[in-house]
Amino acid sequence: MEQVPCVHCMIFFTPRNRKQNYCKTPECQKARKAAWQRNKMHTDPDYKADQKLSQKKWALAHPGYWKAYRKHNPEKAQRNRILQAIRNRRRTKGQHQDKKMDVSLIAKMDARTSNEFNPIGQFWLVPVIAKMDVRKVNMYAITDRYH
Ligand SMILES: [Zn+2]
Repeated sequence: MEQVPCVHCMIFFTPRNRKQNYCKTPECQKARKAAWQRNKMHTDPDYKADQKLSQKKWALAHPGYWKAYRKHNPEKAQRNRILQAIRNRRRTKGQHQDKKMDVSLIAKMDARTSNEFNPIGQFWLVPVIAKMDVRKVNMYAITDRYH
């Protein structure tokens, strides 16, 4: 079989069959399972209801877990709040209407005092349309020294 790039890590590998598009590394297999579940949640209402119910049961059996998680992972909690706000907007406005970038969706985080790079702050880069991962980026002001 001819080598193909893994859809997760992009490294070429030899697939066992034409359907295999993730390589066998644990990280890529985890990504494959997560993608499968994401798709299943979107396409199978019964599966989605089952998952929500078992998550609810688990949360009831582990009181305080998510509160402690948010306390110990403030950046992840903030990221989740942003993503939830986006999901809420999509739900109320409809998926295909609101494609214009909304500046209020870009949350400014952890602004710092200036150094030689003149940073503006740290931001979450949240893709609204394209399917890609959310990334944390540092933004810097660019000054033109030649004028
Ligand atoms: Zn891979």
